[in-house]
Amino acid sequence: MPVLLDVLVEEMGRLVRDPLPKWTDYNPTGGDIGQLEQNSLKNNTFDKMALKNQVWDAYKAGTKKCIGKECEYGIVVALLGDGAQIPLRDWGLIFKWFGKPTGGGKWKVFWFGSEVKREFPDTGSPMGPEHVNGGYTTRCSSDGIFIYRLEEATRVLVHELIHAACLDPDPAKTTIPVLEANTETWAELLLVAFRSKGNWAKAQKLWAAQRKWIQETNGRAAAAHNVKGENDYAWRYLNGRAHVYERLGFDLGTAIGANNIQSSRFTTPDLD
Ligand SMILES: [Zn+2]
Repeated sequence: MPVLLDVLVEEMGRLVRDPLPKWTDYNPTGGDIGQLEQNSLKNNTFDKMALKNQVWDAYKAGTKKCIGKECEYGIVVALLGDGAQIPLRDWGLIFKWFGKPTGGGKWKVFWFGSEVKREFPDTGSPMGPEHVNGGYTTRCSSDGIFIYRLEEATRVLVHELIHAACLDPDPAKTTIPVLEANTETWAELLLVAFRSKGNWAKAQKLWAAQRKWIQETNGRAAAAHNVKGENDYAWRYLNGRAHVYERLGFDLGTAIGANNIQSSRFTTPDLD
């Protein structure tokens, strides 16, 4: 297993032995509801299918509920349908892993629980934000992390926390696609370590599954959707990460042009 992953898994072993953050109910304020409404209407540069707005409408129609939870490190306000819930144990530990925001206060997450999953477009069509994105935040700020799919929500939380906690590359020195490829790679490595719960054998298995997933998704993106370089939108999350992994000492093997794969999620379902 690559040495970097060893270190992260060891750190995770310590984190899971620590006391878990305690969650209590949180009453969403008028300001929180206003944030949800405002964001359901705007910020659709990434949310091309207006998934946030669909979830907001479902909330207004009474088919999704607004749930608020709070712990020492963060507050989550979520619009979720029956059967969906906030993964409190996981998210509490992840908040704890990142620590509190440097400016004080708590992380704040707004989650629109859309059931719509990431899928590749038809063969030959280019990939856009609607096929890959699922959240956004402001860099170096605890103003709010917005997540708008149920799928891969924990991976998105980690990715956005890296931005919000200012742990991503300096945009003055890096192009946005390279900045995103770095952020996504670290998010995936942290997620593998997190899901291993500090167990090396488990981490090894998860990494093998994720490595295969990367080979297949990157392979299809390149072969069927011409995702080749920084100017191709999905490169920043998919094919661009291959360069970052390799620089960090991971051998990804060869991308496989898996045309039978329909899901364009970034991580294997084994990491859910
Ligand atoms: Zn990002």
